[in-house]
Order: sequence, then structure tokens, then C-alpha cells
Amino acid sequence: MVTIDNGAVAVAAGNGHAVVAAEGGTFAPVSHSNGSQPESDASRKRKMAVLPLDVGTRVNCRWRDGKYHPVKVIERRKLSCDGGPSDYEYYVHYTEFNRRLDEWAKLDQLDLNSVETDVDEKVEDKVTSLKMTRHQKRKIDETHVEGHEELDAASLREHEEFTKVKNIATIELGRYEIETWYFSPFPPEYNDCTKLFFCEFCLNFMKRKEQLQRHMRKCDLKHPPGDEIYRNGTLSMFEVDGKKNKVYGQNLCYLAKLFLDHKTLYYDVDLFLFYVLCECDDRGCHMVGYFSKEKHSEESYNLACILTLPPYQRKGYGKFLIAFSYELSKKEGKVGTPERPLSDLGLLSYRGYWTRVLLDILKKHKGNISIKELSDMTAIKAEDILSTLQNLELIQYRKGQHVICADPKVLDRHLKAAGRGGLEVDVSKLIWTPYKDQG
Ligand SMILES: [Zn+2]
Repeated sequence: MVTIDNGAVAVAAGNGHAVVAAEGGTFAPVSHSNGSQPESDASRKRKMAVLPLDVGTRVNCRWRDGKYHPVKVIERRKLSCDGGPSDYEYYVHYTEFNRRLDEWAKLDQLDLNSVETDVDEKVEDKVTSLKMTRHQKRKIDETHVEGHEELDAASLREHEEFTKVKNIATIELGRYEIETWYFSPFPPEYNDCTKLFFCEFCLNFMKRKEQLQRHMRKCDLKHPPGDEIYRNGTLSMFEVDGKKNKVYGQNLCYLAKLFLDHKTLYYDVDLFLFYVLCECDDRGCHMVGYFSKEKHSEESYNLACILTLPPYQRKGYGKFLIAFSYELSKKEGKVGTPERPLSDLGLLSYRGYWTRVLLDILKKHKGNISIKELSDMTAIKAEDILSTLQNLELIQYRKGQHVICADPKVLDRHLKAAGRGGLEVDVSKLIWTPYKDQG
């Protein structure tokens, strides 16, 4: 490692080339010759590595066989708080291997000469993403609505197998031991753990069972922190303000990431409300799933992330959560839509919900009805109504107008295909006022 006079840190790659790693991710080649030669095409393609490497970087990595294999950087983390740009390790996916072999790699395992830095769209993308606001970026990275209950058991297993990574392999949460599905970037002190023990109420996590037992003796929570806004029988929904309960919000994100594929973890949980669904008994309220929602969304998003924990999947809770998010929108007097992009599974869950709600209305309705009226009745955004009905081929464009074709037999067929609605949200049990900033 060399320090260059402008104060930036450069990393010497094996071939003698060095690059400036400046704050903000810009880079410039540092010539080791007199510097008078014009840049040729060949030198422009020279391998340059900017540290820390960006997530998404492709590079060769030395594997346990001692050979170098192409990898893609999935995640990175700092090794110490005061470390520089080279003090990172990288969670890598070997593109030739199964995702089970993904692992944390140290910088010295990476061949920095092999970093792909040719000027192409990837670099353009990066530049664009640097310019994006937090919100724009999150819009692209984070939205992944998962609805695994829509999958049959076999394809679910396949899905799990394909995406399993070595990090935290299992967690203990309440009376369940749960196998995790995806990588989640827990703080470095948990690097050596394959199992974590969660307090099911405050979601603090610990390395050892004894620590959890000690914690449970003094933890006074018996439900998620925040207001119970819905109770129907043994089912309760709590609204948790990420600003008032920051640690809980962050813990929930760490936990959720273990079961959500592409979600990027953000630590600005302040901006979100978390709606935590619980099954309650005399021991307390046990979380079964949740969804998050931005406090203020210009794009009328009414849901950011949604998860049903594995032991509770395929029981209709995912559908309940989606329905609940629309009930909140109705109370706000706004239309809502889930954040985009949706995962395939998320889209499937939503299409099912939209189909059931819209076709139920169409079946009962006499006379004309417009998309706008449907939207007002359901809080479903007009675009989502249109795309759902178009997808079912129930809409025709005649004389400059969309016309809904509502043959009862056709509606019944689609309703049957959309499946059952899961647990009902009983609106009379929802006691809630929309979020307002308190100063
Ligand atoms: Zn606790």
C-alpha cells in the first residue's frame, strides 16, 4: 500500500499499476512511467481496483483449492471501525459454483488485477447510482415482497437450496429453531456464529443459549414495542415506530434479511413504521410476520418489505398482511401500492390479492363501474387495477375507453384460480389513526 500526495490511498496491484481510491468511488489511474504517454485503448482497459470494492464487482478469488475462480461480490463489511479502504472483507459468490459455497473472502484472496473496470454500462450504472438519492436507490435495491406461501413445497425447497449461503445457518426464535435462507450482514462480532438466539419479543440476538436464558429472565417485553392497533381473537398487530424503537427496527431488519433475498439493509429505520403481526397466548405475543411502510411516500407506496416467518408460512398470513396494508391506506383515504420492483413471488401474491378483491366487486356490482371507482373502493392504485384486469384479459380498449368485460362465468373461473383469501382482516377491530409527525 502506498500513499499518494493527494492524500488518497492507493493499492498496488501485482503488475505495478496503482489506482487512487478516493472518497465517493471515483478513480483515476496513476501512471508509473513518466506520465507523458497518451492513454491508449489498451491502457484504458488496464485493470484497476478501487477499494473498497463495490458490491456487484466481478473479480477472481483464490478458493480452497488454491486456484483463482471468478466471483461476484455480494456484500462487504469493514473489519474494524477505524480501518481504511483496504480494511474490508467481501462476501463472494463463485459464479461457477453453487451458492452454498459463497463465503467471506479476505482482501489477499482477491486478484485485484482481475477486477472488471472496462468502461461499460456497469460503470455508468455506478455513476448514476452515486448520484441517486437515498430514496431512489432504495426504490431500486430494496423492494422485495416475498410471498413464499404461494409456492408449492417442492419448488420452495429448490428455491431454498439454490439460495442458501453460509452465514447464520439457523436461529432460535421463541419455540422455533428456524433454518435461514439467505445471507444477512450481522455485525462483525457475529462472524464466527452459525446460530443465533433471538429474544422473540425485543429481537435482541445472542451467540449462546445461556445468554438468551439470562436475557429472558430480565427482558420485560411480552410483545413488540409500540401500539397494538388490531386484535381479533388470538391475532394482534402492533405498530412500531422505527424512530422511537431504533434497535428493535434494526434487529427486525437483520432477522428479516435472513429470509429475504435481495433486500438491502438500511439503517435509517427512523423513516419507517413496522407492522408486526403476532399470535398471542398466555406467554406473550409471538411474531409471525411483518411489513414495513414508509412514513411519507411521494409515490404512494403503502408497503416496503413483507415477510412471514417460515414456521408460519402457508397459513394465509402473507395475504393477511397485504390486505392489512390496504386497510391502512383506506383509513388514510389514499391509494397505495407496494414498492417496486416486486419479486416474482411478490407479484404473484399481489396479483392474487388484487384479483380476489376486484373480481368480488365486479361480480356483485350492477351497471357501469370505472377504474377510478374501483380504486376509490379498494385503495388499490389505478395502474395496478388496470394491469390486473389486463392480465386476466378482462379489459378492452373501445372508442378511446377501457371497458371491463365482466362475464360472471369468466369471473368465477379467475376467482377460483386466484385461490382463497387467507385470514380476513376484520376492519371493525382496527383501531388506528394515520401517522403524523410529532414535531
Ligand atoms: Zn428481550
